[in-house]
Amino acid sequence: MKFGTYMFEAKKVPGFDYDLFRVKPEVGRRMPPKPDMHSNIAIFGDNVTARIHPDWISQSDLGPAWRTNDNFNVRWEVLCATQPEHRAEQLDYIEDVARKSEGIWLNSIHFAEHGHCICPRCKELHAKSGLSWYEWRRKEITEYMAQVSDRVRNKAKKKFVIGVLPDPVTNYERFGVNFDDLAPLTDEFLVVMFSKNYATPWYWEMLVRNFKKLFKDVKLNCALYVIGPGDDPKETPTPSELLTVSVRMARAGTDGILYLTDKAAQMQEFQKKVVAEKDARERLKSYGGRAGQEVLDLVTSWENKYV
Ligand SMILES: [Zn+2]
Repeated sequence: MKFGTYMFEAKKVPGFDYDLFRVKPEVGRRMPPKPDMHSNIAIFGDNVTARIHPDWISQSDLGPAWRTNDNFNVRWEVLCATQPEHRAEQLDYIEDVARKSEGIWLNSIHFAEHGHCICPRCKELHAKSGLSWYEWRRKEITEYMAQVSDRVRNKAKKKFVIGVLPDPVTNYERFGVNFDDLAPLTDEFLVVMFSKNYATPWYWEMLVRNFKKLFKDVKLNCALYVIGPGDDPKETPTPSELLTVSVRMARAGTDGILYLTDKAAQMQEFQKKVVAEKDARERLKSYGGRAGQEVLDLVTSWENKYV
């Protein structure tokens, strides 16, 4: 297994296999990439571009994908996934960031949600395609991801990871995402499994098993939520929960785990806190053999070297 940081701050933290920097998160802010870190880019979730081009927002019968539209789980503004200027600009941007960092990990690669997008351009593209609504959306996402993959893997010659949302069954109907289409285009998959608590690890373990089955030979990385920007620490997952869910995801077969914090100092605080979870670390030794032990060995390495 590999373990990574996943942070809004461009600062490596000792004790992990790699560091993933949120160069362009869904808020749309862009930061310079770092040559010794991987870069995380959200494509269609983009508050800044939506503010500059409000006419690019994704449309549906239940309203546009502004984050204020409670008909959908949109936590940021989501642009139409066929907007040609945004697509072209993001292709060049992603290739440039790839050249200046260790690799590209994508989020927000898809249509906003079920029923999106019905803007005049999408209606016309759908009509011209001769395909069903779902198959047309799938084609749009797959073809664009093929272009992005070519830029990162073939042009910039860097690692490329496609991120998808944690829905193993209806990603196709909701977002236009078909895992079999994307598998040959990506080096590994990332599934963001953020939650403000992990009190019921059984569900997360199940999701890992589901995605391992669907992704077949392509590696699965799961991202866990430690603390985000502006969070009250009292409302974030406990170190014991994070340790337990990590071991249980490991035994269910995940190939990698990333931990999200806002700042590097919070990541180091997380390392200290899980090292201090002596009882949980002892209890979890009996969970799932070698794979679970890899998580516990990581924590032991922090105890000895970094904390
Ligand atoms: Zn559209």
